[in-house]
Amino acid sequence: MRRIFDYLPHPEQQIVVGGRVRVPFGRRMMIGIVVGESDHSEWPVEQLKAIDEVFDQTPIWPPSLLDLFKWAGRYYQHPIGEVLSHALPKKLRLGEQPNSADIEVWQLTEAGAAQDSQSTKRAPKQWQLLELLKAGAQERATLSAQGVTGATIQAVAKKGWIEPAPLSALNESACCQPTQPPATTEQSIAITALCSRLQGFSVSLLEGITGSGKTRVYLDVMAQVIAKGKQVLVLVPEIGLTPQTLSRFRNHLGVRIGLVHSGLNDSERLAAWQAARTGELPVLLGTRSAIFTPMANLGLIVVDEEHDGSYKQQDGFRYQARDLAVMRARNEQVPLLLGSATPSFESLANVEAGRYQHLTLTERAAGGQLPQIAAIDMRQQVMSGPLSAPIINAMEQHLQDNNQVLVFLNRRGFSPVLLCHECGWFAECQRCNRPFTWHKGFRRLVCHHCQVERPVPHQCDSCGSTQLVPVGQGTEQLEEALQAQFPQYPVVRIDRDSTRRKDAFENLVADVQRGHYRILVGTQMLAKGHDFADVTLVIIADVDGALFSSDFRAGERMCQLLTQVSGRAGRAGQQAQVLLQTHYPDHPWVQQLQTEGYQQVAQALLAERKQAQLPPYAAIAIIRAEANDETKVAEFLASAESVLSEAARGVNDKGGVIVMAPGPCAMVRKAGRYRWQLALLAPQKSAIQQLLNQTLGEIEGSKLAQVVRWHVDVDPHDT
Ligand code: ADP
Ligand code: ZN
Ligand code: ZN
Repeated sequence: MRRIFDYLPHPEQQIVVGGRVRVPFGRRMMIGIVVGESDHSEWPVEQLKAIDEVFDQTPIWPPSLLDLFKWAGRYYQHPIGEVLSHALPKKLRLGEQPNSADIEVWQLTEAGAAQDSQSTKRAPKQWQLLELLKAGAQERATLSAQGVTGATIQAVAKKGWIEPAPLSALNESACCQPTQPPATTEQSIAITALCSRLQGFSVSLLEGITGSGKTRVYLDVMAQVIAKGKQVLVLVPEIGLTPQTLSRFRNHLGVRIGLVHSGLNDSERLAAWQAARTGELPVLLGTRSAIFTPMANLGLIVVDEEHDGSYKQQDGFRYQARDLAVMRARNEQVPLLLGSATPSFESLANVEAGRYQHLTLTERAAGGQLPQIAAIDMRQQVMSGPLSAPIINAMEQHLQDNNQVLVFLNRRGFSPVLLCHECGWFAECQRCNRPFTWHKGFRRLVCHHCQVERPVPHQCDSCGSTQLVPVGQGTEQLEEALQAQFPQYPVVRIDRDSTRRKDAFENLVADVQRGHYRILVGTQMLAKGHDFADVTLVIIADVDGALFSSDFRAGERMCQLLTQVSGRAGRAGQQAQVLLQTHYPDHPWVQQLQTEGYQQVAQALLAERKQAQLPPYAAIAIIRAEANDETKVAEFLASAESVLSEAARGVNDKGGVIVMAPGPCAMVRKAGRYRWQLALLAPQKSAIQQLLNQTLGEIEGSKLAQVVRWHVDVDPHDT
């Protein structure tokens, strides 16, 4: 519910704002969080219910963080109760005390240290564990993040090779910081600039090309913050929290690193949360939701790959963790460091407006050049498969030179459509009215919109013909075609399907890095974080999709993705090449990407946004609604529109809010429900916020609001 409730404390109860209490709610008892105190209530005092039990003597969050959550609730138009419950580890939501968690720490015994890979020859997992612990004691949670299972720990402990260790062991990293190469000149300049601003609030954008050594800059700045006894919060994209990242941080800093990620169990999550909150944990490394973790002694926030879409939560409480990081840094008066090779347009606009400090790294730290990008005109090319002849020729050359080739296609499965050659019928998801994707390997048809699956039909549903043919291509087909084209070179596919098992992604990446494969086919999983040193040729199989998208952010996203994928190549110093396969080689940003690079394309696209009055030069919020009955959705949004338009007349002084007419979403039907949306547009975020604050109560109170499913998305990623 979009409101808070009043209760009456007993004079003897010590109530703290930001603490948990048990209160009667309807016929139940529930745990609540005290968000404020007051000396009066809208309700007569005799109607107020009493607080049953007080859980906390000290607030769960410091006032600055509680203020951030309240702000977030207002800004994202989300009920404060849900915001707070989102921010609270599950065990605390259930009323447990934050100190109840034990942290399990393991270290090598002397016998364990004496083992070599021979003694664990038949148990590579055990050897992996011993190797990990050679660098010093580690928490169980950290080990599990690196793919070590409980069974492995038990087995190795039984052999007497590892033993439980005290918490203090975590700060004595045994690996004694392998000597670092000196920072490059550009890195030093950035480090000095950042270290001169460690007091108070500031935001810096570190824009460094892929391979320029941004992480090294973070680490050097972090080391200075930690040396002053302060804590650092580091956010990474979902796919960026890898064992490599972790060991790199640990080896460089030599301190305990706490982790927050989706693989933790409730106790592990609470343990990391509590250690961060008390200030004993020097570094907390986590994905999106880590932004809610209290830190007693925060000295710096780092957001790596700040443009990454995974910082935006796409359901429930739809916050953007990078934007919350800006507010949090301001509230807690600490510096914020944003890093990316392809900064978001929001951050670039903030640089342009003088709000963010801009630091750049333009050269690769370990040497080597950025790859050259060239478009390959597909028009009128004879296609013997998914790739055109010039591309096949280029691949052949690079493979003959003993290099690896990466082929990028952002579409999983064998083909996005399976249709009848006789009559044109195609297999379609009844719930979404979209074609099923054929997954040949799984022998299934899968709807990529609602995930529903069904067996592959042998016959056409309509005419009974058995002539069913795939149309269009996904990674599975590309893999098959390339293996047939280049039988002498091993091909590997890396996408969500080929990496379903735990650790599969890590293992495949390791195999690629060891050179087991020569041709890599994959989706955007390949775009992030991992270096493939021997890749000298990157093929982008399909650029054209993004040119047709109705989403105004499609160009920005595609340029980011292309730049990131390209950045995987040529890390070992050879000159690498990127080939874009397109029917539109003259398209402006396809051109610009070849000749000038991301920064210039971004500037051009930003100018267009400014002209069109679109974000980041304007604010957007969307109300989306869905229901089985399309007329109900249309009616609900029509009535919302009239409420909003009426109220919008009142906020005209702020530059006004444009209330767009409701209409069907780009994908009007999904999982059986019809989806419509209504967009609000304004030059100022505050105008939209004001309008929504004024009207949501009324919109929510309407009868149809109970019938359709609806939500508000402020600063939506998809429009
Ligand atoms: P980015 O995050 O900017 O893509 P990384 O921080 O991953 O770049 O660094 C890219 C590579 O360059 C890594 O292999 C890293 O070890 C190496 N590197 C970073 N800084 C230096 C340096 N000062 N001297 C030599 N190599 C470096
Ligand atoms: Zn047919
Ligand atoms: Zn579907």
